[in-house]
Amino acid sequence: MSKHKLIAGNWKMNGSLAGNDALVRAVVAGLGGARCTVALCVPAPYLAQLQLLRHGSALELGAQDVSAHAQGAYTGEVSAAMLKEFGARYAIVGHSERRQYHGETDQLVADKAKAALAQGITPIVCVGETLAEREGGRTEEVVKRQLAAVIHTLAHCAGEIVVAYEPVWAIGTGRTATPEQAQQVHAVLRAQLQAATGHAERVHILYGGSMNAANAASLLAQPDIDGGLIGGASLKAPDFLQIIQAAG
Ligand code: PEP
Repeated sequence: MSKHKLIAGNWKMNGSLAGNDALVRAVVAGLGGARCTVALCVPAPYLAQLQLLRHGSALELGAQDVSAHAQGAYTGEVSAAMLKEFGARYAIVGHSERRQYHGETDQLVADKAKAALAQGITPIVCVGETLAEREGGRTEEVVKRQLAAVIHTLAHCAGEIVVAYEPVWAIGTGRTATPEQAQQVHAVLRAQLQAATGHAERVHILYGGSMNAANAASLLAQPDIDGGLIGGASLKAPDFLQIIQAAG
């Protein structure tokens, strides 16, 4: 079964009111007849601005993180219910930058995915190995362990997530996994989801890691690559639009 692809931009901690205005207007103007789903995962304070900018377009909104807690004394955190009120359809969870700089564990990432789903927000669960893990032949073991925590915690809802395979060594480095390397890991993740849910063909498994206008088409042509999570290239409208075009 072929499904529409999903192209999600991850702005990371970038943006300004004026810059966002120009960027989102250009993206919306260029969406044209894109058949794929397009989302922008932006810093939480900008969701309100993007809600207005996207109005009447097919552009979807997402957050880059979400609290595992529903509400209460968690200073600095943003709940899934709050994100929902500002139009977020997606929330990235477990991005490698959060695992690395904020010590997020597999279980915390799983709890965040659960909190998002409880509010009807689709978690984009990031998994991926470091360079040392790849060179040590541990890629499969690492990504399966990361995904297993989410599958276990979500139980019968595990098929409701989006997965993003993001090799850590490819993020923001300009070094992309080859289409074959990416496909190999995507197939492993698909098989793991199939065993857990029985309908893994419905789950979008995105590739992320220096995807750009030049390499998007060959990555997106792989049978188990259902879209992309795009960092740097999502900050430039022409590049992001070319990736969207490559996704059909
Ligand atoms: C990301 O941040 O998820 C990402 C894939 O970044 P980049 O495209 O810049 O490598």
